[in-house]
Amino acid sequence: MKLLLNKVAIVTGSGSGIGREVAYCYAREGARVVVSDIDTNGGRLTVDTILSQGGTAMFIKANVAEPKDNEMLVQKTVEHYGALHIACNNAGIGGPAALTGEYPLDGWSTVIGVNLSGVFYGMRYQLPEMLKSGGGAIVNVSSILGQVGFATASAYVAAKHGVVGLSKNAAIEYADKNIRVNSVGPAFIKTPLLDKHLDEATLNYLATKHPINRLGEPEEVAELILWLSSDKASFVTGSYYAIDGGYLAV
Ligand code: NAD
Repeated sequence: MKLLLNKVAIVTGSGSGIGREVAYCYAREGARVVVSDIDTNGGRLTVDTILSQGGTAMFIKANVAEPKDNEMLVQKTVEHYGALHIACNNAGIGGPAALTGEYPLDGWSTVIGVNLSGVFYGMRYQLPEMLKSGGGAIVNVSSILGQVGFATASAYVAAKHGVVGLSKNAAIEYADKNIRVNSVGPAFIKTPLLDKHLDEATLNYLATKHPINRLGEPEEVAELILWLSSDKASFVTGSYYAIDGGYLAV
């Protein structure tokens, strides 16, 4: 029996990396998936792959940092598929690397706008539709940097800590309304996000920070998100789940 049969799901930032793998997992398990991203080519590629494997998906371009885009995304999802049961608020960016006392002001606003406000705007419009659909599950993508610091990444660290708190708050507000909200905290995962910011030597060094002694794969993160999104996790809400090869245990 497929885990997400008859469910409708939105995955933000699913034109690449972790979000793309989440979209694949959701579709594999029978959900109708709305693939959303600012990158139209990446999003369409995700949809084409799902369709070629017999799944159901459509692409909607939306910038999570814009409230109106989030509203439109939810509206179009419901118009097209008739309901909304699952959302994975995954879209995120790395941002500039600088000491806090030198951090670029525009970089701060951009990272907070996408990585924290983007998650809030998403839930702001997803939750009312999930109530109408009779319940649902939201998984917000934080990071190990939602639990600990990382020098030169203050905007990212602040945003990802914020996502953990925001998820807990929504969880307690909607727990008795059949909507579960959780966050996940990946360690360093092999995606274009890392490739954009870090060279090979740094990636090799970072691998040694994980007791498992390698970086994670986006598919590994997607399997956790799938589980949290499914009824298998029916008693799980308000939680933060690390998926980090032991990074936070050291
Ligand atoms: P990625 O760069 O491969 O994918 C991110 C996607 O988000 C891209 O397709 C991009 O176009 C999209 N995006 C960026 N800004 C957007 C916006 N304003 N609106 C809509 N879409 C937007 O990165 P990834 O590694 O797959 O990251 C996914 C999430 O996982 C992010 O929230 C990231 O912070 C988090 N994360 C990643 C790692 C890692 O090591 N890769 C670790 C922990 C957490």
